[in-house]
Amino acid sequence: MTSRRQWLGAALGFGLSGSVRGSSVLETLSHTEPCMGTLFTVRAVHPEEDEGYTAIAAAFRRMRAIDAALSDYCDDSELNELCRTGHARPFVASDDLFRVLRASLSLAQSTGGAFDVTLGPLVRQWRAARMEGRLPDEKAIESARARTGWQGVALDASKRTVKLPREGMQLDFGGVAKGYAADEALTELRRHGVTAALVAAGGDIAVSAPPPGQRAWHVAIEAGAAGVRPSVLLASQAVSTSGNLHQFAEIGGVRYSHILDPETGLGLTRPITVSVVASTAMASDSTATALSVMGLSHSQEWLRQHPAVQARIVSKGQDGTADVWQTPGFPLAPHANVHR
Ligand code: ADP
Ligand code: MG
Repeated sequence: MTSRRQWLGAALGFGLSGSVRGSSVLETLSHTEPCMGTLFTVRAVHPEEDEGYTAIAAAFRRMRAIDAALSDYCDDSELNELCRTGHARPFVASDDLFRVLRASLSLAQSTGGAFDVTLGPLVRQWRAARMEGRLPDEKAIESARARTGWQGVALDASKRTVKLPREGMQLDFGGVAKGYAADEALTELRRHGVTAALVAAGGDIAVSAPPPGQRAWHVAIEAGAAGVRPSVLLASQAVSTSGNLHQFAEIGGVRYSHILDPETGLGLTRPITVSVVASTAMASDSTATALSVMGLSHSQEWLRQHPAVQARIVSKGQDGTADVWQTPGFPLAPHANVHR
């Protein structure tokens, strides 16, 4: 582990900015390493460097274990074992798998399937199509679609079992697992006595209580097409940003996102960037993906029914300029244009 000591207030890469203005007494320990195909960073406020880094190492172990269980890339992951056997008999799931699946199915329900972890066969097909730079044909899309369907996945909470409705299903937690890992890393840090910490799992960022003497963590988020990079103030919350900004492919002059539109079986083409603030990163991660699929007006409707979730949506207006809409409670930091 290549440890780095950093002072609170020092800027860190990819979307985090210093959290403390005018403080040079407290120090924060920080470590970054690759996980789940992106970079994860843990920052922890701790008076003892050794103990602090022990806690950070435990948090990373926890996140790697979640990755090993929930990854669809890794053949022997628990998730892939479920996909291989879960149609034949009920599969007894780990607590991690069960919790993530239960939350995912509940979001599928409330979003009418805009967020759907059973889209795996279509997601895999789309991944290959993006690499090859050609669209899959209608027949291929329909045959992949035949192996999807969140409605038929049956959970039994008392036995913690999962039954899949058909053979050949492939679940994909790419839109929710990073958030869950960030939440669990915070829990692990707390278990080690760290009460002020920030975990960034790629663009999914979870924070615990703010550093002593501070009211909030100050976290920079993606600007979307809106230009200047805003920040949010968070305490025991999480923020995620989704959209088609970073991971997109251009095929036939059209820009497609890595987020799938369940209606078409292809990537989203709508230019939209959605930032979601919620009480957990599992919720912010998956909801940001869901709202990207739903688009502005359906998202506004969903958010009215889920007042605990805050969102900021940057979409393209009719004249091509960026249109920014946000819920009244979105915790945008004042002086949002100042990038420290
Ligand atoms: P990022 O990986 O950039 O954080 P997201 O959190 O939005 O992006 O998740 C995108 C991933 O989620 C995709 O790579 C894919 O694995 C999965 N996915 C794509 N479309 C959907 C969808 N409609 N519902 C659920 N998961 C999806
Ligand atoms: Mg996400």
